Amino acid sequence: MEGSTKPHFVLVPWTGTISHVIPMTDLGCLLASHGAPVTIVTTPLNAAIAQRRVDRAAPHGAEVTVTAISFPATDAGLPEGCERLDLLRSQAEVPCFFKANMRFGEAVAQYLRSETPRRPSCIISGMCQTWTLGLARDLGVPFYVYHGFGAFALLCIEYLYKHRPHEAVTSADELFDVPALPPFQCRLSSRQLPPHFMPSTSVAGRALQGMREFDMAADGIVVNSFEELEHGSTALLSTATGKTVLAVGPVSLCRSPSLHPQSMPDDARRCMAWLDAKESKSVVYVSFGSIGRMPPAQLMQLGTALVSCPWPVLWVVKGADSMPDDVKKWLRKNTDAEGIASSKCLLMCGWAPQVAILAHPAVGGFMTHCGWGSTLEAIVAGMPMATWPFFAEQFINERLIVDVLGVGVSVGVTKPTQNVLTASNAGDSESEAEVEVGMEQVKKALGMLMDQGAEGMERRKKAQGLKLKAAGALKNGGSSYINLENLIQSLV
Ligand code: UDP
Repeated sequence: MEGSTKPHFVLVPWTGTISHVIPMTDLGCLLASHGAPVTIVTTPLNAAIAQRRVDRAAPHGAEVTVTAISFPATDAGLPEGCERLDLLRSQAEVPCFFKANMRFGEAVAQYLRSETPRRPSCIISGMCQTWTLGLARDLGVPFYVYHGFGAFALLCIEYLYKHRPHEAVTSADELFDVPALPPFQCRLSSRQLPPHFMPSTSVAGRALQGMREFDMAADGIVVNSFEELEHGSTALLSTATGKTVLAVGPVSLCRSPSLHPQSMPDDARRCMAWLDAKESKSVVYVSFGSIGRMPPAQLMQLGTALVSCPWPVLWVVKGADSMPDDVKKWLRKNTDAEGIASSKCLLMCGWAPQVAILAHPAVGGFMTHCGWGSTLEAIVAGMPMATWPFFAEQFINERLIVDVLGVGVSVGVTKPTQNVLTASNAGDSESEAEVEVGMEQVKKALGMLMDQGAEGMERRKKAQGLKLKAAGALKNGGSSYINLENLIQSLV
């Protein structure tokens, strides 16, 4: 069998968010489509998600084994089954989660040292799974790190580590340039930087220092992107880090975007039927990723703009159950949760089939938090974006989308959303944050996003051009296809 002569990849995604499990599973399916056997090791809850994705990637999914190792949540003081950050009861439980993750690492290492039916040839490790370093060294195999960020963001982070422009400013709002990809300017304030640049005295800062050391020890970096997208960022990142950098995406292209209606939960099926009833490119899709929640007052400003704009809106809201009663009441009164064909604003509180939504002909624009997964899925769909970054590296991604690629308009957010895991909760004192973006500002951004004039058409044209390049990258002979082959061949 061809697969048996190829190196065996062990993929260990960061367990904290679904948004890492999804692309690493898809990466596994892509490696398998090149004939390499793959084992994905994750927690039981994430393993169930990974297995469903693998099953949908047939026939190559057959080469992918998903292995569940139990996550010691209760040992660390967390509720049973709390295997991801979105399942925490409060932000204060984050340190417990990291403690449980270290113990999980010990169990994974024990499994891979002794029980795995096939020895790994290479480990691809998600960020935060720093314990894979010792394991890879013990087993004498190379390890690559997968951050879940794009190459431009990683390049900016390298620049920030080396040149530290954020240390020369006098306030958290003062803008400075991060000229990592000349001639493009990338102006950011220090409050918009990823957590890597938090004060190093804090517990989180120390953990991030450990992650930096882990990154520096890696034999290479695997990026969910494609060479043609980020204007040479992968080559510059390779020079800056001295490491092999392989862009192997967009990994969501490992399977067809369309879903069989029978394989969809009811709310997803309703959502696709609602889209079927709308005109071509008329719908605004609004979603802020797998965990992003905004404070209730901010959500109301956004919602008021969405229900009063001229376009139909498909709005995904996370954490709706824990919102204050007046917000829940407003949502019930002003939005449709049933999928009535003629309704103006469809609310989805469950898991939206995002890749299928973005590929639907009725969708004409995407308001996004600029998470890298969502960004790349929009690129694959040729979809213009309105950018509303929340935190992490999302303000850097916004600069790429708006300034470098010219496929987005900025909503104009200047401050990160605090406590994204709990910001929408009723009675959460952390959530009493001020409103930064008013209803009129949101409506202005929506107007630019859906603009049918010259500027809007230019953004659409650029987005369509990138869509074609994305598809080409993974075809036989394309840049990502070749990088996947090179990765496999380097281990033979
Ligand atoms: N996603 C989805 N349905 C949802 C919410 C999120 O399919 O209701 C997927 C989305 O397609 C993407 C991932 O979750 O693959 C979100 O990743 P991203 O990097 O954009 O954001 P994060 O969740 O890490 O903030």
